[in-house]
Order: sequence, then C-alpha cells, then structure tokens
Amino acid sequence: MKYHVLPQSDPEVFEILQGEAVREAEGLELIPSENYVSEAVIEALGTLMGNKYAEGTPGRRYYGGQTYTDRIESLAIERAKALFRADHANVQPLSGAAANLCVYASWMDPGDTVLAMDLSHGGHLTHGAPVTFAAKAFNFIRYKMKDIESGEIDYDALEATALEARPKIIIAGFSSYPRQLDYARIAGIAQKVGAMAMADMAHIAGLIAGGALPNPLDHGFNVITTTTHKTLRGPRGAMILSKGIAGNPLKAPEKTLENLPTLIDRAVFPGLQGGPHMNKVMAIAVALGEAARPEFRQYATQVLANAKVLAGALMERGCRLITNGTDNHLMVLDTMTSFGKNGQEAQALLESAGITLNKNAIPDDPLPPFKSSGVRLGTPSATTRGMKEQEMIRIAEWIVALCKGEADPAAVKEEVKELCAKHPSPSGVVERG
Ligand SMILES: *Cc1c(COP(=O)(O)O)cnc(C)c1O
Repeated sequence: MKYHVLPQSDPEVFEILQGEAVREAEGLELIPSENYVSEAVIEALGTLMGNKYAEGTPGRRYYGGQTYTDRIESLAIERAKALFRADHANVQPLSGAAANLCVYASWMDPGDTVLAMDLSHGGHLTHGAPVTFAAKAFNFIRYKMKDIESGEIDYDALEATALEARPKIIIAGFSSYPRQLDYARIAGIAQKVGAMAMADMAHIAGLIAGGALPNPLDHGFNVITTTTHKTLRGPRGAMILSKGIAGNPLKAPEKTLENLPTLIDRAVFPGLQGGPHMNKVMAIAVALGEAARPEFRQYATQVLANAKVLAGALMERGCRLITNGTDNHLMVLDTMTSFGKNGQEAQALLESAGITLNKNAIPDDPLPPFKSSGVRLGTPSATTRGMKEQEMIRIAEWIVALCKGEADPAAVKEEVKELCAKHPSPSGVVERG
C-alpha cells in the first residue's frame, strides 16, 4: 500500500510502520491467534468513519448524523447473521475480552457462578482467571480434560459439577485446546441445569464461517462471542451472536433466554461501553464479505489440513504434543519433555530464527506462566500466505532441528526469509507514495 501523507507529516511513526511491515513480511508467523488482513480491510480501518460517534444501535442512536453509520453497521450485522446462522448480532464490542464481559454482565449478577474450561487445559484468561476483574465479580468453577492423551473433555464430571453448582453460564471455548468440543452435549447439560450456553469461538470463528468446523449455534448454544481478528481475518474487534430477536434496548427486559439479544445490546451500551468504533465496524463488514466467498472456505479447509500435517511431522520427529495431535488450527508442543527446554527458552530460540510462536502452559503445568513447559503454534497465518502441506513439513524440520541444537538460527532465518518471500502477505507492503 502506498502512503502519501504520513511519511512526510510524521516520519518517525512511518519508520515504525515500515519496520513492522518488514518483520511481518520476512518472518514466519505461527501464533495461532494472529493473521494477515487484506488490504481492503486495512483501507476500511484507516477511514474517517472513526470520526463519528454512534452510541446506540442502527435506527436508535443518541446523536444525529447517522445515515452512513447506520448503513455500515446494519450491513456488518446482516453479514454476520448470514455467515453464522444467527438471529441477532452485536458488532460493537471493542475486543474479545470486552465481548465476554458484556455477556457476563447481560445475564449475571455479581457473585453468580460460571462453569468454564480450566486455563491450563486450554481455556482463556477471560473465562475467569484469578488475575481478571471478572474473577472478582463472579464465581468461576472449572472443567478439564479427562485424559490428556486423547484430549477428551470429562463430560460426566462437567455434568456433575453443573448439577451441583447450578452455574448461570456454561462456557465452551478455548485458546489452546487442540480438539473439538461436543457442543450438543454441553448445550444439553446447560439446558438441564437452567444455564445459558455460551461459546467463545474467538480462535475458530473463521473455521466455522468457512464451514470447516461445526457452529455451536447449530447445536443448541444460546450465545457466541468471538473476536474478528484471528482465523476470521478481520480487524481487531469482536461480535456477540445469538438466537432470538432484539426488542427495544431502552427498556430493561426480564432475564429470559428470549430476551437475550436485548439484554446483550444493553450490556454493550450503555452497560459497559461508550461509542462504537465505526471505522472498525466498517472493516468488520469488509472482512465478513470476504469470509462469505468460496476462497475463504478453501482457506479454512487448508488451515486444518496444514495443522494435521504440521502436527504429524512434529510427532514423527519425536515431539510430544498435548492430546497427541489436533482437530483444529493449533497445537501445544511440550518443549520440556521433547527437548528439555521450557517454553520461554524455545520461544526465544525460534524467534532468533525468524519463527514466531508463544510459550504456553501445558495441562497442570508445574512451571509458572512466564516460563511454561511448552509452546503453542498454529497454521492460520502461514495458510493465509498460501503455504501448504510441503511447507508444513519444512517448518517442523526447522523447529525440531533448532530445539535440538542441530541448526544454526541465523542460517534458518535466511531460509525462512526465502520461503516467506515466495508467499507474500496479503496485507501488502508499506511504501512511500
Ligand atoms: C483471543 C481471545 C479472547 C480475547 O480477545 P481480545 O480481543 O484479545 O480481547 C477471548 N477469548 C478467547 C477464547 C480468545 O482466544
């Protein structure tokens, strides 16, 4: 993309932007929560739509001048509903963390109980990790895997816990769980105990939109929260999707599942947020338009195919993967058992060879989170760049050789750069116009 004004008006900022552009172009991105957006998304994000305050929802705003903000938000909402087979969508949450908080606030009072996946078994910080504010406001209890070798969730224990604790919400969702969840089973348990079933699909939304993974809304879930910037390949942002039709957000409705869309809209604004970022909403609309195209379905399928090959190639070379593989786009590699290196050491070593991934706890990890016994890696970004099975095998070879101390990071860095040059990022380059 050519920048006409910024290089002159603020060369210091432009130089930083160029640095990041080169880093992204030349490095291999394996962090499973990241991706490269299209230039169309970048263009939509960098627009004057961000000038406008649009508190409220389309047709029901607090300020005047909403002709185009109403149009763009309605378009984003309609595209989100169609793509995820939802009846209602709120595209205003500023991030995944905010979206989750909005759902909690829509349905619960302080002190209420939530049942969610254990953090070290794959759950997310925003599902009530002790360091979060949500953990102070609500009572989070946990479910885990039954067996770390297969990755199967202990559904019987989940049900027993739910029957005993009567949570208000049961959350299905994860950021480092490499297997599929049995949505119908979890939704059934939620129904049995009168809980709301909430799926946080931040990581896998693009794979669901692309038809490669099942959609929790098709299997009895009441609500989905998701980020828009991970596999969905949009701007940083989030959405809340649900079944049911929203009523007048100006009137507080009763807390029933039928009223959930209205409760959610009210929790987003004025409950927790102020004005939505309309430039971001515009970029979400663009990304959702892209996600409805046939190429996106191919991408989603290829993300999974690549992950299977990468996981297989790592295991063939002696790596221990948590749950012995993956059904989705990510995997957790136990670097401590595989190479005698903690996650922090492995992350730093690979970064020196141009390969970016992140340290990650393994189930019931004895090491503190800042060190961790493993790393998490995934295929969304590499797949967006057009890399396929053959490249996955090379990546596995590099990772293993580096972690065993059998390869020179500087030499691998050059090879990584060469491979990346053959697969340019769709975010494009940053140039002076
Ligand atoms: C990434 C993620 C979030 C948080 O999203 P942010 O946009 O970083 O706030 C929430 N839940 C899950 C499962 C995630 O993976």
